[in-house]
Amino acid sequence: MYTHIFGPVPSRRLGTSLGVDLTPTKTCSFDCIYCQLSRTTTHTNHRNEFCKADDVLEELRSVLREVEQPDWITLSGTGEPTLHSGLGYILAEIKKMNNAPTCVITNGSLLHLPDVRKELMLADRVLPTLCTVNQSTYEKIHRPVSSVEVSANLEGLRIFTETYSGAIEIEIFVCPEINDTDQEIEGLSNYLASLKNIESIYLNSAVRMPLEKEVKTADQGKLNKFRDKLNLPIPITTAFEHSFVPAKASAWNRPALSSDILKLLLRHPCSKEQLERVFNASSVQIDKLLNELVKNGTIAQEKDGSWALIGQVNG
Ligand code: SF4
Repeated sequence: MYTHIFGPVPSRRLGTSLGVDLTPTKTCSFDCIYCQLSRTTTHTNHRNEFCKADDVLEELRSVLREVEQPDWITLSGTGEPTLHSGLGYILAEIKKMNNAPTCVITNGSLLHLPDVRKELMLADRVLPTLCTVNQSTYEKIHRPVSSVEVSANLEGLRIFTETYSGAIEIEIFVCPEINDTDQEIEGLSNYLASLKNIESIYLNSAVRMPLEKEVKTADQGKLNKFRDKLNLPIPITTAFEHSFVPAKASAWNRPALSSDILKLLLRHPCSKEQLERVFNASSVQIDKLLNELVKNGTIAQEKDGSWALIGQVNG
């Protein structure tokens, strides 16, 4: 059973993406109110070799022999990937595999560190989160470790965009009544307009069960208004505009187990159709596995019809 590699994940933004998890569940510099995982248990902004880089790479080579070439190899998972001190080495070694381009999904909180920016240069695509330019809102939404400040985050992102040659997509997680006031949006708009090299912006919202139940979902109408108010000459898409189902099944070459499904759902809720394609399984097989997991009380169906884990599971 693989520990660090999950998927291929059918991703809204990335097509078919093979996930690489570099941290134990759940190691993060944030404890976001909208997080789809559990509460942060290792709340830190100190970089560390949380798992052996060579073990991760060995697993990845093994999985790449089993599955069809993914659209992306994505460093994300159950924590913040830039916290791993071997990030640069891992990205360089993945490049040598000459398989798929690499993407890093990051909360952006370590971008003030020159080493992190330098290592991220090796990725083909970087997806940083930016929900606000105000410290009090930053604290309310992300609940960062005490030494993390939005001003350092903003400055780090600015420097990164000035030197990075790959594609950057900013994710804004819209939390109604928290970061969708006119003042909040104006602050974000002014800051984003001053950045170079932003390919696109993605407006996300709590379409799936957030950590804190009081976090409201911004529906398509609210996200459209947010987009209009940002008023930026950059392509902006929203969470409701894409639901990706791979056109054909992956080359998954053994019967899927409920543990395979759990590992994927821990990191990424999926529809039944997506699971069929990812695990190259029939509707009947996936129904059987989903029913088992429902009976165990491990998974539940979300508002949008996708399946997700309930409760805390260690990945
Ligand atoms: S949403 Fe991402 S950045 Fe926020 S707590 Fe969860 S893993 Fe960390």
